[in-house]
Amino acid sequence: MEFKRFGNKVIMRIDKGEEVVGTIEKFCKDQKIALGSISGLGAAGRVKIGLFDVLEKKYYSKVFEGDYEITNITGNISTMNGEAYIHLHATISDHDMHAYGGHLNEAVICATCEVVIDIIDGIVDREFNDDVGLNLYKF
Ligand code: FE
Repeated sequence: MEFKRFGNKVIMRIDKGEEVVGTIEKFCKDQKIALGSISGLGAAGRVKIGLFDVLEKKYYSKVFEGDYEITNITGNISTMNGEAYIHLHATISDHDMHAYGGHLNEAVICATCEVVIDIIDGIVDREFNDDVGLNLYKF
């Protein structure tokens, strides 16, 4: 991974063999980035995305292996328990240009991934909401 920062914006390249979620999470922790938005695109050989079942309050995830375009990564940075908390969703497409999308757990890059992080000066924390079963923004 390499990046360049321009004021409150970061341009990042995640390389072949690197995993997107862990790379962005480590970067935000190392750089002490607490709040912001994330967007990206690229190509991955292994992607794990999930769906949150609201009745069961649990995630169902599926792994896709092969050639996939990451047509979109969208997400945000906030904090929980004093640490950077990354929330990412992604849409991927296959050889037939069919798309699959969901909550992004993991994406291993097979070509490149281009990410823009927009840093916001501020803090928004999260706390677990028992009713929903997720870590929600707390204001
Ligand atoms: Fe999600």
